[in-house]
Amino acid sequence: MALQSVHSVKGTIMRSSLFTMLVVGSILSATLSTEPPVIDYHQHLFSPEAAALVTGDPKSPGIGARDVIALLDSAGIRRALVLSVAYTWGKASRASVDDEYNHVKAENDWTAQQVAGYPDRLRAFCSFNPLRPYAIDELTRCSNNPQLRDGLKLHFGNSDVDLDNPENVAQVRKIFEAANRHRMAIVVHMRTSLDLRRRYGADAARVFLNELLPAAPDVPVQIAHLAGAGGYDATTDSALSVFTDAIARHDPRVKNVWFDAAMVVRPGMSADQLQQMTARIRQLGAERVLYGSDAALSPLAYPKAGWEGFQRLPLTEAEFKVVANNVAPYMRDVPAR
Ligand SMILES: [Zn+2]
Repeated sequence: MALQSVHSVKGTIMRSSLFTMLVVGSILSATLSTEPPVIDYHQHLFSPEAAALVTGDPKSPGIGARDVIALLDSAGIRRALVLSVAYTWGKASRASVDDEYNHVKAENDWTAQQVAGYPDRLRAFCSFNPLRPYAIDELTRCSNNPQLRDGLKLHFGNSDVDLDNPENVAQVRKIFEAANRHRMAIVVHMRTSLDLRRRYGADAARVFLNELLPAAPDVPVQIAHLAGAGGYDATTDSALSVFTDAIARHDPRVKNVWFDAAMVVRPGMSADQLQQMTARIRQLGAERVLYGSDAALSPLAYPKAGWEGFQRLPLTEAEFKVVANNVAPYMRDVPAR
């Protein structure tokens, strides 16, 4: 009895350690199979004022460059593109704030100062609501700031740029033309407003391809979240299909277009959804797909968790490697060290 129980305990230990080895082995192969990305293409900083505005907590400390550097370090990622959230001061679905343009300038400038402390690791893009009367002034002002002149972030959802509205499209076209003149790259969250229930899908993506991209032929354009807003649904897929079709026919308008995959993989996604996204990534070509984490407002968006989540896609080792090592033109002169 005593012996037997020793045997069975030993057996259990052996089985469980083998089990542990197998489990640990599979976790390692699932999460550590590919080196971390060289660049995180979708990060945000929040000044305490912007954090208070967004979270409703007046004591929110915000997210500074130091915080993001620590998160990048824990993921083994050296460089990041920081997209100013100044546009959120002009958020269409929030009551307007007094002195909006001053807040926009202050947020862009604060972001620039934060990033200036880490010139070998962080680059900032300027942002604003492109439909506001001050939009061109702010673009011009940013183009004169060495920390902000490399590019713009436009958030069509937050700013309520409606791609069904020809006036909105004409206004944003002017921003694209101005960015092109100043050789500023453009990161765009193309998905129109969910809060305001704007229509979105292939038609909207065609407007982007036909009316906006031709206005900025000389600068790279990074379409965020694989043309969605995080996650992946049929609407995003239909918008993205406009670009995969354009790429397939070698349409010159998409020669300088990149896609970031920030927050596209969500917990609980079905194997079918992961497969569908993988098929689209292959149509885009892994060499156009950039890894991004998104704002560190939830642990799921921390760079380490974000990269682990992205690796749940059934891409090959070689494809993950391509994505991890992509360097878009606007990050080429941020030294990797
Ligand atoms: Zn974002």
